[in-house]
Amino acid sequence: MHCPFCAAEDTKVIDSRLVAEGDQVRRRRECLSCSERFTTYEVAELVMPRIIKQDGTREPFNEQKLRAGFTRALEKRPVSTEDIEAVINKIKNALRATGEREVNSVFLGELVMEKLKKLDKVAYVRFASVYRSFEDISEFRDAIESLESEPRSD
Ligand SMILES: [Zn+2]
Repeated sequence: MHCPFCAAEDTKVIDSRLVAEGDQVRRRRECLSCSERFTTYEVAELVMPRIIKQDGTREPFNEQKLRAGFTRALEKRPVSTEDIEAVINKIKNALRATGEREVNSVFLGELVMEKLKKLDKVAYVRFASVYRSFEDISEFRDAIESLESEPRSD
């Protein structure tokens, strides 16, 4: 990174150590031009991105809403609460892994569909029919047929 004193491009790390119980890396740097020393801290960016809705408005990621969606789609299906929680965690990790501050709701929707498809195909179709709001019935039928022709993934 640039030197904060003289803006030279080259600085070297002279010391590096873990701090904050290993959650941060503290680096002591020295500028190769002016020899000033300064400290930087590196932390993982694990902030949950906000969701950009279709109308362009933003809202915080809502775990309860996601869980409610899964529970509704999986009503009376042979899927355990534990499996649902595991999938919710995977989705949260995938959102964090983007490293983005904001993600499109379509991206989240596709993630949910992908996970649901592996979890329970009936629930997947149930959810997809609402979520994707298929434009006509043939589109919906195509989706079901493609499911039926697919070999089971488990
Ligand atoms: Zn400098």
